[in-house]
Amino acid sequence: TPPSGSPRPRLTFLGTGYLGATYAICFAELGYEVVGFDVDEAKIAKLSAGSVPFHEPGLDELLRRNLASGRLRFTTDYAETAEHGDVHFICVGTPQRADGMGADLSYVEAAVSGLSQHITRKALIVGKSTVPVGTAEWIEQLVGKHADPELGIEVAWSPEFLQEGFAVEDVLRPNRIVVGVKTDWANSMLFAAHKGVFDLAATEDREVPMVVTDFATAELVKVAANAFLATKISFINAMAEVCEVAGADVTQLSKAIGYDPRIGNRFLQAGVGFGGGCLPKDIRAFQARAQELGAGEALRFLHEVDLINLRRRTKVLQVAADLLGRRFGPAGPDLSGTKIAVLGATFKPNSDDVRDAPALAVAALLRKAGADVHTYDPQGNENAARALPTVTYEDSMNAAVQDADLVCVLTEWAEFRNADPVALGEIAKGKKVIDGRNCLDNTAWVAAGWEYRGMGRP
Ligand code: NAD
Repeated sequence: TPPSGSPRPRLTFLGTGYLGATYAICFAELGYEVVGFDVDEAKIAKLSAGSVPFHEPGLDELLRRNLASGRLRFTTDYAETAEHGDVHFICVGTPQRADGMGADLSYVEAAVSGLSQHITRKALIVGKSTVPVGTAEWIEQLVGKHADPELGIEVAWSPEFLQEGFAVEDVLRPNRIVVGVKTDWANSMLFAAHKGVFDLAATEDREVPMVVTDFATAELVKVAANAFLATKISFINAMAEVCEVAGADVTQLSKAIGYDPRIGNRFLQAGVGFGGGCLPKDIRAFQARAQELGAGEALRFLHEVDLINLRRRTKVLQVAADLLGRRFGPAGPDLSGTKIAVLGATFKPNSDDVRDAPALAVAALLRKAGADVHTYDPQGNENAARALPTVTYEDSMNAAVQDADLVCVLTEWAEFRNADPVALGEIAKGKKVIDGRNCLDNTAWVAAGWEYRGMGRP
């Protein structure tokens, strides 16, 4: 039962990337006094000037409004951050380690030690980044090393489930809040730190369930959720592989099994697979941690989930070779002399995030096979050009499709879903299309004279 009448704590968010910046801005919107901290001076300068350094629908307006309200400010100063916060949320990146498997916790370590050294009163440090189970206990020890023990600084864990593209809605109206705590004080501070979320829900006649548990369970909830989602996508992509050899249609199969509420139709679309800054690295780190703990066998299936996912990228290359009449030898196909339009670079629509994006990975494979690749993404061109400089980036869909022998739709932006196949057919050279997200109206494309290939469709 949540305690009532707790005063509103002052909040800080350390790491103002996709997660931390969205939180800082949305919690200021909910009425909290917030400081966002990052070591990246350029990012902090941009945020302070009212500009969100990434694309997230609705966030720019909230940023400007809350900077103006005086409830929100950004800094690169640990001391200022420590002074402001009663509750400090750690939102820094936890990328894949160079060895390819476990999570790199060096940013978490830097943020926690940098902050703890400057804290001068009792406070709560809450981990939000996605981490291996056991990290919260390790952070307690780190705090013990760097902060005055007399202050009684406590640690808690609250994993995050926001989806890029829906982040504002997910933060203001989460479907659950999970907290791992050791004491009633930490629990009541976390309740107070989320009271704005509960109050908003109450005014809208909704409830937000809060799961209060121990550190290890809270940490595992996040990676378990991601492992489940990744498995669901790879499951349907495995079905797509079978459909491809059996002459069946995975889109209808998915629809038909999804009517069973035990299965559900969300996250059940076959395509070029999952990507982004979370799912791929999280399932690898989860396997590595389970192995360390002696439960590696339990998660062996996640290796298969990863392989199914990566096979979808090569599948597009195979289909491209097939459509362009090129042989697929042991070294892959030779696509030299062809021009291919790649529509999409981000890992999902309504985002500019190209981290481990299947679209970009496929663009790289096509380029490596010798094709002249012209990519267009409504929001991702800039990030994509940094991540993959070897392809040409175009300012519009038409510019990418102009004179192309083949068009590949690899991110399901509305602009591509709603594209007119007749008009595009007039500027393309080849009228061959790969629908890597099964998001096009195949009947309309075929009627307009295109040779259409989806994923897992006859
Ligand atoms: P990001 O790369 O966009 O942001 C990380 C930020 O941390 C960067 O701005 C970086 O400059 C900053 N940083 C690095 N060292 C720092 C330090 N010592 N002090 C303060 N800031 C520091 O990453 P992200 O997507 O926001 O993800 C952050 C964490 O949240 C990851 O663990 C991720 O797995 C998790 N997560 C992300 C999402 C998502 O949709 N992006 C959702 C749920 C969980």
